[in-house]
Amino acid sequence: MSTTEVDPTAPHGESGAEGNGRRTSPVDVFTPRDVPLGGPRAMTVRRTLPQRARSLIGAWCFADHYGPDNVADSGGMDVAPHPHTGLQTVSWLFTGEIEHRDSLGTLAYVRPGELNLMTGGHGICHSEVSTPDTTVLHGVQLWVALPEADRNAPSAFQHHVPRPVALDGGEARVFLGSLAGDTSPVPTHTPLLGAELTLRPHATVTLAIDPAFEHGLLVDSGEVRMEGTVLRPAELGYLETGNATLTLTNTGDTPARTVLLGGTPFGEQIVMWWNFIGRSHDDIVRAREAWQSESGRFGAVEGYPGERLPAPELPNATLAPRGNPTRPHRA
Ligand code: MN
Repeated sequence: MSTTEVDPTAPHGESGAEGNGRRTSPVDVFTPRDVPLGGPRAMTVRRTLPQRARSLIGAWCFADHYGPDNVADSGGMDVAPHPHTGLQTVSWLFTGEIEHRDSLGTLAYVRPGELNLMTGGHGICHSEVSTPDTTVLHGVQLWVALPEADRNAPSAFQHHVPRPVALDGGEARVFLGSLAGDTSPVPTHTPLLGAELTLRPHATVTLAIDPAFEHGLLVDSGEVRMEGTVLRPAELGYLETGNATLTLTNTGDTPARTVLLGGTPFGEQIVMWWNFIGRSHDDIVRAREAWQSESGRFGAVEGYPGERLPAPELPNATLAPRGNPTRPHRA
């Protein structure tokens, strides 16, 4: 570890109030911001990626966390057909069920503990609606940036149900990559890890991790200490490359649930705007025009009872590429 100071832009940038443990921890803490999804319902998500100080963790470039929401109050999820390019979407639920329809003709039901991975590639569109039987909706939606060589790959949809792997103190479900002796059969375009980890009350778990990976731990429930830093529910802890183990402790009296993301640092600068990822302002302009003109690039969703989502207006300014600093921002 090359530095011992907590990122000053991190939300709990205490300067010693919690003692040396916090100040010497290698973990940066990112708090979420609330983002309404819009549309006919009122669902709000907690977004922890991207952050001002960090655009990506590996190729993970977007993390939305929601619920547990009582659908009667929140309205549930109803996202009309919208396009994607240059990225993959990962839907991972803890509770509830979502009906997914896409322009490949896929009709899939996203269920707890099951990976549903959609590859946008050059272009795809899809709708996501919580099913009528869903009373509680709770899960994450994640995006993976595709590398230059594959960002215009054919679109695709994959499904995988990982087996639960027993840990000494908890359980893992590895939906992408390898952890705790299990490997997802779903291929990735860059080295990547995605897993749900549950920890029993007061359990400490030490996992072997790939030192070439950086990692992010999103806490869903409970309070979890990550390499000495306490993460509260909905916070995302970031650990840079160079670590061969990851030690997590559930500090509470109830089970804790987390999602662990990892990957080799994504070496490319990306332009991320609305539902598109490109490499230049012009990439985004072209994708937006193709969607607005209903060109064949993104196809069409069959069976969604409503209109597709129009793209927002582009800003007047040129969209600038973003990447990560070669070393984390430290003042
Ligand atoms: Mn989408």
